[in-house]
Amino acid sequence: MRLNGHFLRNTMEEIKTWARINSPWVLHFNSGSCNGCDIEILAALTPRYDLERFGIKLRGSPRHADVLLCTGGVTLQQADRLRRIYEQMPEPKFVVAIGSCALSGGVFQGCYNICGGIEKVIPVNAYIPGCPPRPEAIIDGVYKLLASLKPAERALEPSSHEYGDRAEVNS
Ligand code: SF4
Repeated sequence: MRLNGHFLRNTMEEIKTWARINSPWVLHFNSGSCNGCDIEILAALTPRYDLERFGIKLRGSPRHADVLLCTGGVTLQQADRLRRIYEQMPEPKFVVAIGSCALSGGVFQGCYNICGGIEKVIPVNAYIPGCPPRPEAIIDGVYKLLASLKPAERALEPSSHEYGDRAEVNS
């Protein structure tokens, strides 16, 4: 039996997407946070909360990451870095804004050096409010985002869609 190239390519993409959703690798980036939210993310990754039981693993390079966990209002200094990191991630890719500052600028809103929330710079797929959100809320938000991406066709959509067209996860 001859398999055509298109079918093989699609099947390979579906397998890759299935693997990414079921065992996503995350990258953590502080775009201007006070570190409160970052400490909660680190707590979520420790054995006490054990994010790895969902197959979620922390990586150090954007080229290996499927999900970008962002904290803080975006400072003018970090805006370009955040954009560059996002562009270096392979498709399909997802962004989770964690904490009130990442959602809207929070307590730093209106400061001379703050652009605003993460979505001012890159598209955001899920929002986790709180100042800071607890590790349980972070785990719940990431898990709900991944659950909302199934079936696989949903996940194959490019993440550079319009800002209004995204999964909103509040926990
Ligand atoms: S949401 Fe609260 S804890 Fe998180 S960066 Fe802003 S001020 Fe800090």
